[in-house]
Amino acid sequence: MDLEIFSPLEQINLPLFTAHGVQVYIKRDDLIHPLISGNKWRKLKYLLKKAEAEGKRHLVTFGGAYSNHLLATAAAAAKFGLKATGFVRGEEVQNNTLFLCRLHGMQLIFTNRESYRDKATLFDLHFAEDSDAFFIDEGGASPEAALGCTELVDELPFAFDHIFCACGTGTTAAGIINGLHKNQLNTEFHAIPALKNGAFLRDEIDQYLVQPHPYQLHTQYHFGGYAKTTPELIDFIKMFTASTGVLIEPVYTGKMLYALFDMIKRGEFATGSRILVVHTGGIMGLFGMADKF
Ligand SMILES: *Cc1c(COP(=O)(O)O)cnc(C)c1O
Repeated sequence: MDLEIFSPLEQINLPLFTAHGVQVYIKRDDLIHPLISGNKWRKLKYLLKKAEAEGKRHLVTFGGAYSNHLLATAAAAAKFGLKATGFVRGEEVQNNTLFLCRLHGMQLIFTNRESYRDKATLFDLHFAEDSDAFFIDEGGASPEAALGCTELVDELPFAFDHIFCACGTGTTAAGIINGLHKNQLNTEFHAIPALKNGAFLRDEIDQYLVQPHPYQLHTQYHFGGYAKTTPELIDFIKMFTASTGVLIEPVYTGKMLYALFDMIKRGEFATGSRILVVHTGGIMGLFGMADKF
């Protein structure tokens, strides 16, 4: 299994950044693969290695009907010649994400919200007899996934003063924070939850930290909650994409970049600060949201 990646680092030049004397760079994890997008490749890397080491050739995982993780798992399974099953939360529906999952050969099992809650039981119920089946939690959340994300920090050519990253489960954030610790960097890390009431993420992130490490959790940029948008967020995304050529989406990266712009405008960064934003991908989700724009 060749799991090597290439994720370019680009500088973004905008008048706002010049006016505030900050340099902003973007880690283009979205360019790693069109469907195994961004952090999802990093998160799957050590899970795939573990499955391979255990001789398991059937990936079984979980997600909502718009889950970037489900699609990433389907695409990765196809690429590496593995079988894949996805438990999808809720009633049977059809959308672009699930269409692409199926196209890559993933078997989909729609599961009512009640049984979906107990993933271990679902797995046992369907796959107790399948010695090939390999359990991957929703969103890939696991120590292996965090480990894969630490490698992002190893790829950076110089030290940044700040790093911004969007959070769902917080696994990616934890991995990057571990990378900062490992490389003895005192970069300030900013986690931006995509969900409402994101304060719980501190526990989620902390459980994956190899060593306690300070970081900032900005819980006020959720725009109404997971997958919710406002006209302000949509306008921001249009402005950002049109002025940089970098496509972002409203669920994760749009909120994270909005937070960055807001904090720059508030003058929260010293002149000369070098700031990195992580493009965690997820662009496929945009195509179901055209009506919002
Ligand atoms: C899955 C995803 C995230 C969240 O990653 P976590 O490790 O669950 O915090 C962020 N951005 C995008 C685009 C994603 O698809």
